[in-house]
Amino acid sequence: MQIAQVIVDIPTRQTNNPYSYLIPDYLVDQVVPGMRVEVPFGNRKITGFVVAIVNNSDFAGKLKPISSLIDFSPVINEELLQLSSWMADETYSFKISCLQTMLPGGMRIKNKKRLIANDDSVVNQHPEIFDGNHEIDYNRQKLTDKSIAQIIRLQKEGKIQVEYNLTHHAKPIMMKAYQGQLDQGQADSQLAVVRKNAKGQLKLLSILSAHPHETFLRNQLITQGVTESAIKTGEKNGWLKQTLKRHIRNPFLRSVAHTNPLTLQPDQKQAVTRINQAISGKQDQVFLLEGVTGSGKTEVYLQSIAHALETGRTALMLVPEITLTPQIVGRIRSRFGNQVAMLHSALSNGERYDEWQRINSGQAQVVVGVRSAVFAPLRNIGLIIIDEEHDSSYKQTDNPRYQTRDVAKWRAAYNHCPVVLGSATPSLESRARAMKGVYKLLTLPHRINRHALPHVSIIDMKTEMAKHRSILSNQLSNAIQDRLDKHEQIILLLNRRGYSAFLMCRDCGYVPKCPNCDISLTMHKNTHSLNCHYCGHKEPIPTVCPKCHSKRIRFFGVGSEQLEEQVKQLFPTARVLRMDVDTTRKKGSHEAIIDKFGAHKADILLGTQMIAKGLDFPEVTLVGVLNADSALQFPDFRSSERTFQLLTQVSGRSGRADKQGEVVIQTFNPDHYAIQLAQTQDYERFYATEMRVRHDGKYPPYYFTVKLTGNSPSENQTASEMFDILTYLKSHLSAQAIILGPTPKAVTRINNRYYYQIIIKYRKEPNLKPALDEILMQSQKKQRHGLQIAIDNEPLDFM
Ligand code: ADP
Ligand code: ZN
Ligand code: ZN
Repeated sequence: MQIAQVIVDIPTRQTNNPYSYLIPDYLVDQVVPGMRVEVPFGNRKITGFVVAIVNNSDFAGKLKPISSLIDFSPVINEELLQLSSWMADETYSFKISCLQTMLPGGMRIKNKKRLIANDDSVVNQHPEIFDGNHEIDYNRQKLTDKSIAQIIRLQKEGKIQVEYNLTHHAKPIMMKAYQGQLDQGQADSQLAVVRKNAKGQLKLLSILSAHPHETFLRNQLITQGVTESAIKTGEKNGWLKQTLKRHIRNPFLRSVAHTNPLTLQPDQKQAVTRINQAISGKQDQVFLLEGVTGSGKTEVYLQSIAHALETGRTALMLVPEITLTPQIVGRIRSRFGNQVAMLHSALSNGERYDEWQRINSGQAQVVVGVRSAVFAPLRNIGLIIIDEEHDSSYKQTDNPRYQTRDVAKWRAAYNHCPVVLGSATPSLESRARAMKGVYKLLTLPHRINRHALPHVSIIDMKTEMAKHRSILSNQLSNAIQDRLDKHEQIILLLNRRGYSAFLMCRDCGYVPKCPNCDISLTMHKNTHSLNCHYCGHKEPIPTVCPKCHSKRIRFFGVGSEQLEEQVKQLFPTARVLRMDVDTTRKKGSHEAIIDKFGAHKADILLGTQMIAKGLDFPEVTLVGVLNADSALQFPDFRSSERTFQLLTQVSGRSGRADKQGEVVIQTFNPDHYAIQLAQTQDYERFYATEMRVRHDGKYPPYYFTVKLTGNSPSENQTASEMFDILTYLKSHLSAQAIILGPTPKAVTRINNRYYYQIIIKYRKEPNLKPALDEILMQSQKKQRHGLQIAIDNEPLDFM
């Protein structure tokens, strides 16, 4: 008797333990750990992941059999199965969420969605039609309607591609028909069909016969005006040939010329040597590679990746969200060609699935991707790189709330390989570990071409605003005009999207707020609406005050949309591009903006912090930061660190080639140490100053932290349950644990639920994990009156 242990898709604490199911005879030896299956659960069927196959079960009752197989081969390998267990424990989340997080978007199956295969499925009955290049003939293969529906679904899910062209014997007849002989009244029965429903079919024929040696995808045909019924008729009458193929899309729109490794500078050479030794020696050592922008970190990565490949292993390189990807991927592809797969959010589900397949099947040995690529199904990893390791996108803010650096370290230990964390401004946690010797510090102290760092000036906006009420200081406006005259490029950073921060009635002070959240609405001019950035609520922009009917409604606070408008007014001849969440929603738009600016088809690139990172534009000689304080205003112990990192990074954008760069930072807090030290790019002093602040405030890296957030539809309920949890924690934790709260979150009400939080700071607290697990269990068992609880281990913010 074979029994499958299955983690079922019911997110609760109980289902973190697998359920046992019988493997029916016809599936014996086909079910393997890491496959997804459909299983009965209560009176319905749900999906789950097989995590083990055993011969006995200690379950006392009668075991039910697996209903069907979803996958034909494992989608989660042995390493990732083990990782999911560790991660569920580490992040206080459900195993099922961890397993699902590891799969690319398009492969996640929602509970109620119909399954793609079952025991009488088309795939089991007709395996031959999925091996590629098989002409399918629905009649000959006796496919049922259900099977045909499955094929169409598989195709929509991007798992197979259907291609069309004319069949051999039908081609001459149909060509003739298309070439104008249609009206001559031939008695051919097929032509009769054509005539009856001619329009769509003529279209289809015209496309196919114009390119007789090509095949067409279903979607290509549909978008050119061919009807579904024309395709069906063609298939039915045998003149249209349909083939099914596992199709691999190519997300690399541009091909890249090959580049050779550069001769390394002494510091780079030393770094590469140490990393390569760790690769050869199979050591899971963590390196912190510290170097200002332009110091040659990427070349170090490339040569270390090359070494990992030479030793027959694979390499994983992570970059922050989409910002870095197009340029870095270009550099990596130019070195390693088609061995590179990329995984990031700008790919369609289908493309991501294809890349995932290429990795899983071993065709791609180098993976470049964002946070979730840390789960890429690479085998035998020889090197993991995390570029810009301090970046906040490496922490997932939803369940499972993992820190990519920790997952990378786990995989490095499993694969016996080094991790390289690269940054100009390392997180305090990583730097502190390097100082202790836990990580090995490698530094690249110079810019490659010894260019001086840009000249940074700080403008006090308090005095500036007293003189005139423009968002651009005189110095910044003059500098912009100067660069425009010299035909050089400019980047302007304003960390707030939308047109203006909020609306206010000049007469009664009324500010429109979201009906669902405690937050004022942001005006978006292009959509003519007031939007809530928390829940997505939208409403029209009022022309009179809804409260006092005054017409004196005014906008306050400038967002990127308004900055664009103002800049265009001030510099009417300048070509301006804006990059923020709102202009980069469409697939490929982010890349298009970068390409355009990179080709100097625009003079000014402005936008939110998306533009701050990693972009390498040699013609940029001026960077303006319009509101350097935006991060400082948050009530968060990391706000200084974020401000310093952002300003240092954005300054690195200026003057990368042979021209001296300039940076203008506008601020209301010119004396703040984060801003002062960013001016000189003095990481060493920032680290020392900030470590003192952290020490005195008992913050990381001196203390570990956990954030516990509870929410419910009633504020009283939330508060009283959270105070109850506080009592529980106090009686279970030692006196050295510091418990803060419960306090209402900065935005207390979101989507009509009230949020309170408790922060726990500790150095060593063996009771913490059991206590938090118990609290989660209580809320799961509904002992906490509908309070929903989220636990964030090492949160990035305390808000
Ligand atoms: P970082 O990743 O630290 O910002 P890069 O690796 O992008 O730095 O290097 C900055 C520039 O210097 C790039 O244009 C790169 O091609 C060049 N470069 C890097 N290393 C070398 C080297 N050893 N010799 C010559 N040029 C180099
Ligand atoms: Zn009013
Ligand atoms: Zn809202």
